[in-house]
Amino acid sequence: ETIGDNLARTAASYADREALIECASGRRWTWAELQADVDAVARGLVGAGIGKGDRVGIWGPNSAEWTLVQFATAKVGAILVNVNPAYRTHEFSYVANQSGMRLLVAATSFRTSDYRSMVDETAAENRALERVVYLDDQESWGGLLADGEGVSADDLAARAATLAPGDPINIQYTSGTTGFPKGATLSHRNILNNGYLVGEVCRYTEADRVCIPVPFYHCFGMVMGNLACSTHGAAMVIPAPGFDPALTLKAVSDERCTSLYGVPTMFIAEWALPDLDGYDLSSVRTGIMAGSPCPEEMMKKLIAAGIDEMTICYGMTETSPVSTQTRTDDSLERKVGTVGRVCPHLEVRIVDPVTGETVPRGEAGEFCTRGYSVMLGYWDDEEKTREAIDGEGWMHTGDLGVMDDDGYVRITGRIKDMVIRGGENIYPREIEEFLYTHPDIEDVQVVGVPDEKYGEELCAWLRMRPGSEPLDADAVRAFATGRLAHYKIPRYVMVVEEFPMTVTGKVRKVEMREVSTARLG
Ligand code: ATP
Ligand code: MG
Repeated sequence: ETIGDNLARTAASYADREALIECASGRRWTWAELQADVDAVARGLVGAGIGKGDRVGIWGPNSAEWTLVQFATAKVGAILVNVNPAYRTHEFSYVANQSGMRLLVAATSFRTSDYRSMVDETAAENRALERVVYLDDQESWGGLLADGEGVSADDLAARAATLAPGDPINIQYTSGTTGFPKGATLSHRNILNNGYLVGEVCRYTEADRVCIPVPFYHCFGMVMGNLACSTHGAAMVIPAPGFDPALTLKAVSDERCTSLYGVPTMFIAEWALPDLDGYDLSSVRTGIMAGSPCPEEMMKKLIAAGIDEMTICYGMTETSPVSTQTRTDDSLERKVGTVGRVCPHLEVRIVDPVTGETVPRGEAGEFCTRGYSVMLGYWDDEEKTREAIDGEGWMHTGDLGVMDDDGYVRITGRIKDMVIRGGENIYPREIEEFLYTHPDIEDVQVVGVPDEKYGEELCAWLRMRPGSEPLDADAVRAFATGRLAHYKIPRYVMVVEEFPMTVTGKVRKVEMREVSTARLG
């Protein structure tokens, strides 16, 4: 099934039920209305000369139009190129050219991002880009819809009939946590199935209402959010264009949401709101926390609030994205200690990164997965694709994991973050978890910095609890001595206010490594 055919089925089954709610504007769509508007945008794309395989960019924060464009491009077989709303001119031109983007749908501006100026500034650089449509500018958006007026329903249907589930439909650039973003190319089959199966684990039905404060530009929003909803007839609730903790909980209260999404830092910000008790969260049953490890304290708070079917997912853009998920009835221990079990219809293998052999249960190795979710490849980059997907179809994630006897997986770090000091392999996560136990430390990250004698030395970045005195390297050594092996005790300590983060809420260790090296050198 293609995404367009699946949407048509949902629209027929649940025509009058709510499909989409944009809280900022108060606009609402039923599935029948959504289908009609998706078709109007699809006709506009055809009228603008866009057909199967053409790349159409989307650049801006979450909005109803973002969702319409997502479904409309899938319907005409165009390849949607998600552009990170935090990108600036250099990064935008890179993805526009790398993907060969012909048409861009953008917001005019949002917060500090003036998309229109950036598009104008880079006009000469973006070779393939023929047209830009502004989704929040009535004249521009209306112009796209007007282009579609001459396109008949039969024409749309004829185009839909040429599409196959294995066709590329989406290029998603990875978060860029470890380097320059790579364009994962995904098919209908990849993302439609992943959205559907993630929704199955959350036990979604047409009665569910899912609050989606995570960015659509990332798989979390557009697949685990929009497609999990559209495959089950559940409503998509957009609390605000960008993340805002108060508006998110307000949307949950006002719209009686049954499911709430976020990366861990979003939940932490929501539960730190001074007026938390003022929101009615009693409708929330389930949700998804993903993207980085989930702190135990946070999960306890969610369970105490009655959200005891909250699930944890692990995955990556290249795998559409989810590979493992906790189940709604899993214990607290499993929810905070693991990223769940392998998702239905996927294979997982934990392999020794050096020998390539499968390691015994309980031992760490590289998490590899195979099945419907593995991307078609990196856009226009066969070499990187061959490095990531081996000849037998296994995607090598670059993440280190351990699988226990019951099939539950723990992610223990990234191969790239591993520090090798004097020949000893050190997993920063282990040191971070140890330092968290210090009462004055609010948050900690550990990275390797180059060292002449040992190859690498450890540097700990600390965020202190409010009112605590900053710790120096001697204080950290005193705390760790006798409890951590000597080579695992960080030689350098830096106290900071904030860690460098990606817009998806992940700590940028590469940048921390560079900053530490520059400051220490
Ligand atoms: P890049 O590949 O560009 O360096 P990235 O890997 O951060 O960036 P994404 O595809 O957005 O880009 O993120 C996937 C990665 O996020 C995974 O490979 C894993 O390292 C991390 N991750 C995802 N979910 C979890 C989780 N539940 N627990 C721990 N880590 C997670
Ligand atoms: Mg990655």
